[in-house]
Amino acid sequence: MQTERLRGVVVPKTLKIVPAGSKGFSLVANRKFRLGEKVCFLAGELVDAAHSTPEAVQISDTQFIDTNYLVAEDFINHSCSPNTRLDIECRQFTALRDISRGEEITYHYLTTEWDMEAWGADFRCACGSLHCLGHIRGFKYLPLAEKLRIKPLLSPLLRGKLEEIERLPQEKI
Ligand SMILES: [Zn+2]
Repeated sequence: MQTERLRGVVVPKTLKIVPAGSKGFSLVANRKFRLGEKVCFLAGELVDAAHSTPEAVQISDTQFIDTNYLVAEDFINHSCSPNTRLDIECRQFTALRDISRGEEITYHYLTTEWDMEAWGADFRCACGSLHCLGHIRGFKYLPLAEKLRIKPLLSPLLRGKLEEIERLPQEKI
């Protein structure tokens, strides 16, 4: 039944979808990628929050990029130490370091998602990273130090929100 879910999903030759136990499926590299290389395109169109699926990517307080069919990038799992970042402006997942063939492609969901808990999309992370955040709820819930740690990876929306937080008087943070 799980494999049924994959029917019709178009995957670039450079990538493949593999079963990944409790995570369901993973998207893995089918060749080596170099630091800075484009790994996967983000397909979809703008939809309102009410019409978005759990795989949608947030781009403003009310809008998401989403597809109403499954695409390869829907299988990119979260990691607290990801090997790609999502560049929303050019709609690409870009390698943050060299990625070996067979390695799972990951990105940090909290570099785009402000409040996953509000949509019931929060989850317990088992990425195994030294920096694992445990409960993945949304960027808004992260301690300031963690928000700042991932600042270089943030979407324009979350970067703007972080800059607003940084402008607050220190005692309010
Ligand atoms: Zn984690």
